[in-house]
Amino acid sequence: MAFKDILGNSRVKKTLRKALQKNKVPNSMLFCGPKGVGKRDMALVLAKAMNCERKKDDACEVCPSCRAINAGNFPDVIEISPEKDVIKIEQMRILRKIAYLKPMMGEKRVFVVVEADKMKEEAANSLLKILEEPPLFSYIILVADNPFLIISTIKSRCQVLNFSPISKEDIGKILVDRGYEEKKARIISLLVHGNLKKALSLEWEEVQDRRTKAWKLFLSLLNKGKVALFLRNYAASQRALVRDDWEQTLEMLSSFCRDSILIKEKGDSRLLMNPDYEEEIRKAETLMSLEGLMDCLTKIDYAIYGLEKNLNVNLLVSSFFSYFKEWEYV
Ligand SMILES: [Zn+2]
Repeated sequence: MAFKDILGNSRVKKTLRKALQKNKVPNSMLFCGPKGVGKRDMALVLAKAMNCERKKDDACEVCPSCRAINAGNFPDVIEISPEKDVIKIEQMRILRKIAYLKPMMGEKRVFVVVEADKMKEEAANSLLKILEEPPLFSYIILVADNPFLIISTIKSRCQVLNFSPISKEDIGKILVDRGYEEKKARIISLLVHGNLKKALSLEWEEVQDRRTKAWKLFLSLLNKGKVALFLRNYAASQRALVRDDWEQTLEMLSSFCRDSILIKEKGDSRLLMNPDYEEEIRKAETLMSLEGLMDCLTKIDYAIYGLEKNLNVNLLVSSFFSYFKEWEYV
C-alpha cells in the first residue's frame, strides 16, 4: 500500500508528502479522527515512505525496505496496540528503551501506537517522558479515534493531524468497484457515516435484516402506545449486541427519522437515505408531529454521539429506552 491506495483525506496526505520531501517529518504526531477512515494505514505508509530506498515522498513497494515492512519483517517499524483493550506501561517502557537506540536496518525508526486513546495514565506519563526528550532517529505516531481521551500534555507535544470521514460518493464508488449494485452501494454509503472500513465489512443480507428490525423499532416509537412492550422485548432480544451493533441500529433509526422529517417537510425525495422505504415512510410519518420527530432524532443522535465518545454502552441504551418508555404516558 502506498499513498495513492489510501482513499480520502487528501489534505493530510499532502501535508505528509510535503514533510517527507523537505525531510521535516515531526518526531511526534497524533493522527485523530473518526473510526474506519484510514488513520492506521496512513501511519504505516508514512513509516514505509520514511524508510523507502527509492522514493522520497512515498513507498515504492518494491525496494527491500518496503517489502520487508509489508511482510512485517522490518525491525525499525514497530506497531504497538492495546493488550486486552489497554496500552500498558510495560509497552511504553519497551518503546522507551528501543527509541534511544540507533535503527537496525533503516534510517528511521517509526513507532505506530494504534488506539492510543486506550493508554492508561501511567503509560501516558511514561510516553510523555520520551516526547519531552525526543530521540534523534525515532518517530512516534499516535493513532486515536477519540483525541479527548489523550492527555493534553501529550497532545501539545505532537503535531496533530485531523482526519475526516470518507465522502458518501467515494464510499459508493468503491463499493460499486467491488461488485455492489449501485442502489445497494448507495444505501450502505449513506448508513456508515464516512466509515469506509465498516462499509467494506458489511454483508448486504445482514444490512437488510438489521434495517427491517430498525424499521419495526422506529414504527413502534411512532406508535407511542405500544412502545413499552416492544422495547422490553427488543432490548431483551438484543442484549447480546455489542457496541458496534447498537451503533448500527441507532444509525438506521436516525436515518429513518431523518427521512420522515424530509417527507413531512416535503423535501426532495431523491435525498432520502432509505429510498426503498419511501412508501412506508410516507404512511408512517403522519403518526407523529414534526416536533416529535425532531425530538426523537435528537435523542437518537445523542445516543450515537455517546457511543462514539466511548460512554458506557449499557447506560446509554437503557437511558435511551427509558426516555421512550415515558412516552407511553404522554
Ligand atoms: Zn521502497
